[in-house]
Amino acid sequence: MENKILVTGAAGFLGSHLTAKLLEQGQEVIGLDNLSSGRKSNLEPYLKNPRFTFVERDVCEREVLALPYMDKVKAIFHLASPASPKFYQAQPLETIAVNTLGTYHMLELARRNGAKLLYTSTSEAYGDPEIHPQEEEYRGNVNTWGPRACYDESKRLGEVYCYEYAHRYGVRVKVARIFNTYSAGLRNDDGRVISNFVTQALRGEPITVYGDGSQTRSFCYVDDNIRGLLLMMERDEANGQIINIGNTKEYSILRVAELVKQLTGSDSRITFHPLPCDDPKVRRPVIQKAKRLLGWEPQIDLWEGLQRTIAAYRQQMEEQEGGYYS
Ligand code: NAD
Ligand code: UDP
Repeated sequence: MENKILVTGAAGFLGSHLTAKLLEQGQEVIGLDNLSSGRKSNLEPYLKNPRFTFVERDVCEREVLALPYMDKVKAIFHLASPASPKFYQAQPLETIAVNTLGTYHMLELARRNGAKLLYTSTSEAYGDPEIHPQEEEYRGNVNTWGPRACYDESKRLGEVYCYEYAHRYGVRVKVARIFNTYSAGLRNDDGRVISNFVTQALRGEPITVYGDGSQTRSFCYVDDNIRGLLLMMERDEANGQIINIGNTKEYSILRVAELVKQLTGSDSRITFHPLPCDDPKVRRPVIQKAKRLLGWEPQIDLWEGLQRTIAAYRQQMEEQEGGYYS
């Protein structure tokens, strides 16, 4: 097929869900990943699919542009980048590189091929926001001198590359600012809050709240997120646009811990630990733009999404560890 879709970061949490959906739609997909935070096992069900090709490469290598089939790519979902603070803080220079140099390479491929490109930016572009909730026009409050800067600032520079390629070369670029997204596809050791809390609760270990748990986040279930990304790629209205993709219901982290404890029926204690440096105090998207341009809004609330997530983690853990966790 001449029209291939490239997914960078395909072996990661969102990339593997997106790959599944694209294959389900009958598309030809190239999944590119260096397996730094992703796992090939996430793609196991698709590796034998004749419409799927997995390429284990680093998107920062310029040679990826010359790989076989790259000239057939007509749409690029550029997801490659660690997303969990645990992973990006362990590899800060690689994180800066993938969001800047890696994004430049993918934009260059898009320009050469006349392809569309969707860049997964982040709500971290707003930093520790002084405006609440956050709409796309808000310019953010990001610290350049701290452990989150490698992620936040490189994502922002990635957006700048997108702007330049859209305005200079007319590339059909779409930027999704993604707010905290979750489901069972997150690794147990991913370090992000939902995977930590659910894993801890199912193991009967303490549920680790950082700070006093009054900081808030707005959690989007993965199916809603992927539907949003697909709509952005599909719709011309999203060309040259930055669009928030997230759930507007906001929860304190302590409330999330209590909800996970309740829904798992766990005896785990909730324990309190130091708040990481520069941890944003609040986070909630305005999604009017997504509604207007895409007709998109989330359909799965946290209660429903957590139930699905817990059921899937429970099953995975029982399979992996011989039913030790009940
Ligand atoms: P993830 O860590 O599960 O997946 C990222 C994937 O990118 C991994 O498979 C990793 O191995 C791969 N990767 C990293 N550097 C690479 C490189 N140089 N070359 C090739 N592959 C590379 O993270 P995720 O949650 O799936 O996030 C996907 C994208 O969405 C990221 O760009 C992230 O910044 C963005 N995002 C996610 C969330 C969220 O809540 N999940 C929120 C905001 C933004
Ligand atoms: N958090 C927590 N306990 C954990 C993991 C995270 O209290 O075990 C908090 C973290 O300090 C932050 C929020 O949960 O306030 C969301 O963290 P996550 O790493 O999932 O994403 P972030 O939005 O910070 O990138």
